[in-house]
Amino acid sequence: MSKTVAFHTLGCKLNFSETSSLGRSMEAEGFVKTNFDDIADVYVINTCSVTENADKECRQIVRKIQRKSPESLVVITGCYAQLKPKEISEIEGVDLVLGAAEKFNLAHHIKELSKGDSAKICSCDIEEVNGFNASYSVSDRTRTFLKVQDGCDYNCSFCTIPLARGHSRSDSIANVIENVKSLAAGATKEIVLTGINLGDFGKGNFGGKKKEETFFDLVQELEQTEGINRYRISSIEPNLLSNDIIEFVAKSNRFMPHFHIPLQSGSNEILALMRRRYQRELYADRVKRIKELMPHCCIGVDVIVGFPGETEELFQETFAFLHSLDVSYFHVFTYSERTNTLATEMDQVVPQHIRNERNKLLRNLSYQKMRYFTEQHVGQKRPVLFEHANKNGMMEGYSDNYIKVQVAHNTALENQVVEWQL
Ligand code: SF4
Repeated sequence: MSKTVAFHTLGCKLNFSETSSLGRSMEAEGFVKTNFDDIADVYVINTCSVTENADKECRQIVRKIQRKSPESLVVITGCYAQLKPKEISEIEGVDLVLGAAEKFNLAHHIKELSKGDSAKICSCDIEEVNGFNASYSVSDRTRTFLKVQDGCDYNCSFCTIPLARGHSRSDSIANVIENVKSLAAGATKEIVLTGINLGDFGKGNFGGKKKEETFFDLVQELEQTEGINRYRISSIEPNLLSNDIIEFVAKSNRFMPHFHIPLQSGSNEILALMRRRYQRELYADRVKRIKELMPHCCIGVDVIVGFPGETEELFQETFAFLHSLDVSYFHVFTYSERTNTLATEMDQVVPQHIRNERNKLLRNLSYQKMRYFTEQHVGQKRPVLFEHANKNGMMEGYSDNYIKVQVAHNTALENQVVEWQL
């Protein structure tokens, strides 16, 4: 009888797309995928290093598996597994820890595994990780997250991602187009291009040859490829979001008017401490250019509060800067210390309760921005892609400029793009 495997994912869209691909590769090897709440022969947890309390969360999930199915194999992979393999291997019940390079050899490792006393660690130094594995998620069928880039060569002082995922590397444009064509042959209507530092697309060696491709090249090629009519760019660093890309998206029939641009702080002093590669003036300029060409464009912002050195005055600078920007919503992160990062050695640590207060203030501002952005479009007709899920008799869809629409569930609308009055 075929063995069953169940997956649990923590963290970002990239992790979700990788879990999805891992699931397909296990099915190709004869495993049957099952729900994480069911009893499975193998449980795989794809971890994240950004999640707060990654360690605690991982332990809790393993404990739950142990209680429900003590004989099942437990595999931990993902960013946290790369960063802390030994720590994870010591969690009772864990059988295998797979680092960044070994993650995609999951089936091979499982076949050689039996429930034993001590966990096996298959991990190498992150400097040695240089392969690229294309991945995509197809869970909802409507929207697919397609990974085209991995790793990061930047060294932001708060971030462990380069340590967990390694150097920047990408798929080739030819491969991306192949994946897009096979997704188009399925039911996918919208593709979200995903990466760790997406704007850095093009780095890597393929077949021993150094590629010379850029993210802008990729965007132009996708525009010419038949089959998928909606693309989104998941997140792009402001210094890599060129005027060429903005102008192209403004004229494009296929790229949606929606950008997500990490800001992290509205104070140049903090940006320097964070080792970000731009100042707030550049960010404001990017937003201005986008809005000049696409007044209806949705712009999302990542921001971190409570970074060391963020005095009340500097936080107010960030608040006022965000208030003045014509953006649509924020993702607010509360700074938390990560081992092996420069930021942990910095002075002027912000007390936790102040970090929490600042988070709340920015989340309120984000709510107001989102409401204002949505209200500006009420009454307009925009193309909305409706999703499959029936949520208590309702269904959801997103407009081209990422406004969420909720209507009574109607199967005729599922996976359709419809001109809809907002
Ligand atoms: S750009 Fe900075 S924050 Fe983003 S992954 Fe790279 S180092 Fe981390």
